[in-house]
Amino acid sequence: MKITDVRAVYPKYKNVVPSWRTHFWQIVVRVETDQGIVGFGYGGGGVAAVEVVNRHFRELLLGKEIGNTEDIKKTWDLLYSASLPYGRKGIAIMALSGVDLALWDLLGKAEHSPVYELIGTRNKDSARSYATGTDVEWYSELGFTAHKFPHRWTSEKDISTAISTASNARNILGQEALVMIDTYMSWSFETTLQMSESLKDFNIYWFEDVVNPDALDAQSELRKLVAPTLIAGGEHEFTEYGYQEIARTSALGLWQPDITWCGGITSGIRIVEMAHSLGIPVSPHRGGEVWGLHLIVSSNCDNLAEVLPGTRNGNKDELWVGEPVPENGYIAPTEDPGFGVEVNEMLL
Ligand SMILES: [Mg+2]
Repeated sequence: MKITDVRAVYPKYKNVVPSWRTHFWQIVVRVETDQGIVGFGYGGGGVAAVEVVNRHFRELLLGKEIGNTEDIKKTWDLLYSASLPYGRKGIAIMALSGVDLALWDLLGKAEHSPVYELIGTRNKDSARSYATGTDVEWYSELGFTAHKFPHRWTSEKDISTAISTASNARNILGQEALVMIDTYMSWSFETTLQMSESLKDFNIYWFEDVVNPDALDAQSELRKLVAPTLIAGGEHEFTEYGYQEIARTSALGLWQPDITWCGGITSGIRIVEMAHSLGIPVSPHRGGEVWGLHLIVSSNCDNLAEVLPGTRNGNKDELWVGEPVPENGYIAPTEDPGFGVEVNEMLL
């Protein structure tokens, strides 16, 4: 089938706070074909990425044939090369991710296959999910046995907030649960060492995004110093070329590519293959959303999918209709073609 139109849109989000979608400027990409089949993808980069898709990628995509996964990979390489002078990382690759995911959705719909079948052999019926957020009591009631809480460093007193939050999570979820901490680049090398010591009784599975993501040597050093807690990260890295540096420096003990930012499923497959050859586990950022979940169930990703349930009474923008929801701490993609979701046109 031939591509006849490509449009990126920045949705009209209503729940600005605490919606992570708005915070991360997620965009929707729509690709139309001469067969009448329409693919939808999800990218990052906000209105700047919308411009990249509509004013640059669109003209390169019109008329291109998409008949198999090789065509999608060739298209990825074309857009990556064309955007090299201003791209390689960040907004251009977040835009490319949206296009790539729309093409996988399109091909799945054309072949009446879920995307996980196009990726490879399904090796997980469902994925163990972990709840990221602050409402640990509610997550426990929902059946989650794995949880990650956000922690931001502002001053010395935050040692005690980390201890009390970790202690509360352990008390509610029990000794067997996985408990992780995401610092969103707010700790330092020294803070991470201090936390490792202060939190040693709570058996934290990983510390995520502890320092500037370009501080690869520092993270490599920290890996040895805070073991067995893992240094996790990668949501701010892009494509297999970016991950090659993480691999070369042994910076991270667990990789977390965001499939809607790092270059889509095409990049995700390449990154997971690299990690697998090195024996590094991969748990995609927000992997419980369909874009990551289809990769998790059909690849060598770890059996661990991140979901963001929010809080018990919180509001969310329902942008994608038909998204699977976790049950008793596990989540599985539907068998519907493509990614199996429809976009809520009311938000476009
Ligand atoms: Mg994170």
